[in-house]
Amino acid sequence: MDNRFGFEEENRGYTPKEAVAEAKRCLDCKKPLCKTGCPIEQSIPEFIKEVSKGNFGTARRIISERSNLPAICGRVCPHELQCEGHCILHAKGKEIRVGKLERFVADFDYEAGIITDPTVAKTRGKVAVIGSGPAGLTVAGDLARQGFNVVVYEAQEEPGGVLLYGIPEFRLNKDVVRREIARIASLGVTFITNSTAGESFTLETLFKAGFDAAFIGTGTNLSKDLKLPGRENSGIEQASYFLRMVVMAGEGKVTADEVLINPGDRVVVVGAGNVAMDAARSAKRLGAGTVTVAYRRTEKDMPATRGEYEGAIADGVEFRFSALPKAYAGNEGKVTGLVVETEGAEDIIDADVILLAIGSRPAKRIVSTTPGIETSDRGYVITREKPYGMTTLAGVFAGGDVVHEPATVVRAMKEAKKVADGIAAYIDAKKLLGI
Ligand SMILES: Cc1cc2nc3c(=O)[nH]c(=O)nc-3n(C[C@H](O)[C@H](O)[C@H](O)COP(=O)(O)OP(=O)(O)OC[C@H]3O[C@@H](n4cnc5c(N)ncnc54)[C@H](O)[C@@H]3O)c2cc1C
Repeated sequence: MDNRFGFEEENRGYTPKEAVAEAKRCLDCKKPLCKTGCPIEQSIPEFIKEVSKGNFGTARRIISERSNLPAICGRVCPHELQCEGHCILHAKGKEIRVGKLERFVADFDYEAGIITDPTVAKTRGKVAVIGSGPAGLTVAGDLARQGFNVVVYEAQEEPGGVLLYGIPEFRLNKDVVRREIARIASLGVTFITNSTAGESFTLETLFKAGFDAAFIGTGTNLSKDLKLPGRENSGIEQASYFLRMVVMAGEGKVTADEVLINPGDRVVVVGAGNVAMDAARSAKRLGAGTVTVAYRRTEKDMPATRGEYEGAIADGVEFRFSALPKAYAGNEGKVTGLVVETEGAEDIIDADVILLAIGSRPAKRIVSTTPGIETSDRGYVITREKPYGMTTLAGVFAGGDVVHEPATVVRAMKEAKKVADGIAAYIDAKKLLGI
């Protein structure tokens, strides 16, 4: 295998000594703003207090009450905008590193094998979860803990969604994703992979097979195209496809020439969100000669988080702001550059490869094969407040990016937690009424 693709995680975790020292700095505020800053209201002061006393297992148990994915959240949540950004010490630039502490607790417990989740009898009903990104995994974990029999159907060959095939290895090690999923499986959740709703089966089949409810957590996996003159040239690809190929090459599942970028290539990434940053930084790590992010708006309008932007700059990625793409330049069917308009003048950014990262939207496979599920005009599934997360079709629920547009892992988890409660209430009511 070409080891260019096996990226090492760039951030080191705490040692136990460092974790205890960091936890001891926590002021244990009466009104913990870190907790209100966390979308899932994790019990942050409580678990940090346990870490400060060296009680790592208790800390893990506290975290597990709110999250099935702490080793992942500890690595990829935008902490600077959430818990850490709200910490009272943030004003002095000395905020408690909550994310790193959460990561430490989850990793330490995994290494030491301290906590075993209790097995709960599955007597309350049967739920099908479609999609195994953070939304599907959260619904599955929460419902299994509450005594539901859960089967997760995933279109890809392995569960994990964007966690596995989107976020690059240098930010999120794939073994970490696999072990958090293994833990959810150990709660009694069954995973069926290579199984696409709307193709391999339909929602009708699931209900006929005895499921009481279904959850759609299929994300937004259709990447938006940028159709400009010259689009027919080769060398123009979706950034999300590129990121997926990099992960697969790192695992020896595809060959190096399927990954689009060769050492020395000039790469242009169109768009300036986190997908663009991940693609640009991955291209740099693969040895691209130059990597330029072209963005039609200004630096302050960039959707990428500050941390990701700074990471890209540190990696040597260049940025062209207020650069409106107008066309793709090409020669003999191969792309040679991106034509942009900057301050009224046209310019060409030379490129051997152009990666598009201008957004994504939901696929229609499920809604087009199941009548009765309404979507917005942009394809997002419409859900209601009571029972929380139910679509316009009784018994079918949805949550995560497929409902609220692409956001963050923890936003998908937050919604999914509420939907899990909605599903539990719906099934309990249904059983009570005998329907
Ligand atoms: C490159 C990239 C980097 C990101 N970086 C961060 C970050 O650092 N921090 C952060 O918080 N957020 C980040 N995000 C956003 C975050 O990953 C998403 O908001 C989150 O994964 C959404 O979760 P989800 O469960 O709704 O959907 P997804 O994670 O998209 O999962 C959907 C799953 O459903 C499956 N599926 C789709 N259709 C079907 C079907 N018909 N049948 C069966 N299965 C199906 C898919 O294969 C997939 O596994 C990033 C996103 C991307 C793309």
